[in-house]
Amino acid sequence: MPSDNLLITSEDPVSSGVSSEDDDVGHQKELSLKKDVLSNFESLPDKNKHETFLKDCVDLLLKEAVFHGTDRENKVLDWKSPEELLEIFDFNLNGSPSTHEELKSILKNVVKFSVKTGHPYFVNQLFSSLDPYGLIGQWLTDALNPSVYTYEVSPVFTLMEEVVLKEMRIIVGYKDGKGDGIFCPGGSMANGYAISCARYKFNPNLKETGLHNFPRLVLFTSEDAHYSVKKMASFLGIGTKNVYTIKTDDKGKINVDLLKNEIERVKSEGGVPFMVSATAGTTVLGAFDPINDLADVCEEHNLWLHVDAAWGGGALISEKYKNLMKGIHRADSITWNPHKLLTAPQQCSTLLLKHEGILSGAHSANAAYLFQKDKFYDTSYDTGDKHVQCGRRADVLKFWYMWKAKGTHGLTRHVEKVFDNAEYFTKTIKSKENFKMVLEEPECTNVCFWYVPPSLLGKENEDDYEEKLHKIAPKIKERMMKDGSMMVTYQAQKDWPNFFRIVFQNSALTHDDMMHFIQTIERLGCDL
Ligand SMILES: *Cc1c(COP(=O)(O)O)cnc(C)c1O
Repeated sequence: MPSDNLLITSEDPVSSGVSSEDDDVGHQKELSLKKDVLSNFESLPDKNKHETFLKDCVDLLLKEAVFHGTDRENKVLDWKSPEELLEIFDFNLNGSPSTHEELKSILKNVVKFSVKTGHPYFVNQLFSSLDPYGLIGQWLTDALNPSVYTYEVSPVFTLMEEVVLKEMRIIVGYKDGKGDGIFCPGGSMANGYAISCARYKFNPNLKETGLHNFPRLVLFTSEDAHYSVKKMASFLGIGTKNVYTIKTDDKGKINVDLLKNEIERVKSEGGVPFMVSATAGTTVLGAFDPINDLADVCEEHNLWLHVDAAWGGGALISEKYKNLMKGIHRADSITWNPHKLLTAPQQCSTLLLKHEGILSGAHSANAAYLFQKDKFYDTSYDTGDKHVQCGRRADVLKFWYMWKAKGTHGLTRHVEKVFDNAEYFTKTIKSKENFKMVLEEPECTNVCFWYVPPSLLGKENEDDYEEKLHKIAPKIKERMMKDGSMMVTYQAQKDWPNFFRIVFQNSALTHDDMMHFIQTIERLGCDL
C-alpha cells in the first residue's frame, strides 16, 4: 500500500487542504475528524473516542491474526524480501498523526506480512501454537500493564508467580515444593541466572569484590548445549574459553566419562570447576543428558548442577515422559520455558532453585526508593530484588490462566499428544526410503531427518553424495517460504550435511497433518 494512503503527509492536518470540496457539511466533518486526530497524543483511553476503535481493532486481530492466521487453508506467511517489504510497507514515521481508519489498515498490513507462528504448519521453532487462553491472558496482562517488583504495584501477579513457581517445583520433585524461583525474560537469561547463582554459592564475597583475585572458574556443558551458556558465561565475566564443552555420544547426550576426565584436567591445570550445565531436550536433536549420572559427578566434586530444561521441561508434566529427566530433583537449578513445549505465549521462562536465599543473596541491591522496609505490609512479598531487572513484565498470568483453563490433566494430555504426533511422524518417515533419520530414536518432539530426492536415492556411496544432499534442505526451505505453505528449519551440525528439524508442540495437529508435512516436503523436493 503506498504511503500516502496511510498517513497524512502535511505537518498540520487541521490547516492542510485535504478537502477541497465546496460542500460545507463535508468540510465541517473533515475539520472535526482532523481535530480528533490531533488529540491522538493523549495517552488515556476515551470512551467516546476509543471504544469503537479498540473493538474494531480486536475484531480485526481476531479475524486476521487469530482465525485467518491459523487456518490450514491459508498461508503461513506472505514472503517478501527486505527490499520489497521496505517498498510496499509504510514504515515511515513523521510529524503528523494518523486517523483511526489509517491505523486499522496499518494493523491489517502488520498481520499480512508477519509470519503466522500460530499456524499449524509453522513447525520451524521451539515455540508455536496460538493458545486462546494464553492469548487472552497476554492481552489482559497488557491491558493492566503491571511491573512485578513490589506487592504494592502487582499484588495479584506477585502471589500468582509464587504459586506457579511452587507448583512447578513440586512437579520437578523438590521436597514439598520448597526452594525458590523467578520468571525470566527467556531461557537464555534463566541460564545466566543459574551461572550467577552457582558462582555466588561458590563464593558469596564475589558479589562485592568482583572477579579480581579470583581463581579461573570453569563450567562444563555439552557441545550440543544451548549457545546461551557461552553467551552468559561471557556476560558474567567467566569467559567463553572457561566453558568446557564435552563431546556428546551418538544419541546426542553428554559423555559423562569425558566430563570426569575434563574436571580432573582442569583441576590439574589450576582451574576451579564450579558448575555443570546439563541439557534436558537439546535444541536441535532433542537429547536428554543423564541427570542422575551428572548429579553423582557433581556431588563428588562439589559442583553446582544446573539442568537446562528450557525445551524438554514440559515433559515433566506427564508420568509417561517425565522419566526422560530422572534425577532432576537433584539439580540445584532448572531452566524451564513454559513458552516452549507447553505453548504459553512468548515469553514465559522460569528458573527454579532447590535453595532458598541464593537468588536474592546474589542479586539484591536494596534500592531504598523502591523496596522501603518500613512499608505497612509484609515486605517479604516485594520479590523484585531477586532479579537483575527493575521493571518486569508479568509473564505469569497467561500461563496460570492456561493452566486454570486446561487443568494439570489438560497440560498432560497436551504433552502426550505432541509426543504421539512426533512418534507417528518418526515411524512414518522411517518406513519410507526417501527419508533418513539423523538419530534413529528421537527422545523429544523435535525430529531431525534428511529428505533424499529421487536423483540421490541409492547413491550414498558416491563421492559427492553428502555435498549434494547438503543443498537439498535449503532449496526446499526456500520453496516453502516462497509459496507460504509451511515453515520448518534446517541446519548442519557435527559433520552432517544440512538436515531438517521439525518441531511438534501444537496439540491440535493430527496424524493427517503429519502426512501433510511429509507430502509437502516431497512435493517441493522431488525434482531436485
Ligand atoms: C530455547 C532454548 C534456550 C533459550 O531460551 P530462550 O527463551 O529462547 O532464550 C535455552 N536452552 C535450550 C535447551 C533451549 O532449547
